[in-house]
Amino acid sequence: MKGPVILVGDNSPVVREVLRWHLESHGYQVVEAADGAESVTLARQVRPAAILLSVELPTLNGHQALTRLKLDPDLRDTPVVFITAHTETDDVVEGLRLGAHDYLRKPFEPAEVIARISAAVRVKELQDDLRARNAELDRIARSDPLTGLANRRHLDEQLAAHAASAARHHHELSVAVVDIDNFKAVNDTYGHNAGDTVLREVAQRIAASARVEDVVGRWGGEEFIILLPHCGIDGAVVVSERIRRAVAAGPVRSEHGIAIDVTVSIGCTGGTDDGLIERADAALYAAKNGGRNRTIVLQQTDPLPLPAS
Ligand code: GH3
Ligand code: MG
Ligand code: MG
Repeated sequence: MKGPVILVGDNSPVVREVLRWHLESHGYQVVEAADGAESVTLARQVRPAAILLSVELPTLNGHQALTRLKLDPDLRDTPVVFITAHTETDDVVEGLRLGAHDYLRKPFEPAEVIARISAAVRVKELQDDLRARNAELDRIARSDPLTGLANRRHLDEQLAAHAASAARHHHELSVAVVDIDNFKAVNDTYGHNAGDTVLREVAQRIAASARVEDVVGRWGGEEFIILLPHCGIDGAVVVSERIRRAVAAGPVRSEHGIAIDVTVSIGCTGGTDDGLIERADAALYAAKNGGRNRTIVLQQTDPLPLPAS
């Protein structure tokens, strides 16, 4: 297995050669740059595990090169260890202030170079690990384990963000609430596992019928929500009807191969006001009352239908 790549930026071929020799004999791979600008360019190309950089360099000095690296989102976390002949504390302080990971003073001891570089590489690995784990935790916290769709927490956040953005920029926003018809009967007739299979398949058919910019999630139980940013009520009806037809198009197969017919009722509405979900729910309620397997629209100006007695 090849070791981590270290970028060595120094204008002296002799210094580069010495560093290469020590680093390679400790299992690292080395790429060399002769000045500050080349160090930045090469770092973008090879994404090294760490950078060993001279402070005194032509074209861009080490501090200027570090500033460029810190502006690049792909490189800002790459640890930079400075090598300098200047031993004044001010230089060191300035480098650390700019975000240097560590310092080596010339003339350097090979053992110290290796120790500092391996510490830098280790810190970067731990950071990357932590970031990957955080991203995975974030994904888990936002998704519904049964269907893989966004969960209610994520839907709530997205709804608030899209409503605020749509109101500010005068964009349209629509929402559709999808509820499986007579789902309790599926559980009662075929069992809870078959019910779960139906939920997963309906979720897939909904997701496949939505546009990429739409946010599709499980609101709870057998209810789903689709947020349609930049979409007026007419577009929302088109998407809703596509979803409704996709669900009704063919039966869902249970794990025992039983064909289960499924339909959904959909309530949809548009607007950026606080009553958005309540109105979509009212439209859904009307769709259920109207006989199920249909889409009902409520405009922002429509009166809400009377609740069930
Ligand atoms: P309607 O057409 O009026 O919507 O009737 P419905 O039977 O779909 O509505 P109801 O609210 O009476 O029943 C919803 C059912 O959904 C009851 C509940 O057990 C079931 N359910 C909710 N979450 C899950 C789940 O995660 N898995 C399974 N299998 N069933 C679920
Ligand atoms: Mg239902
Ligand atoms: Mg329901």
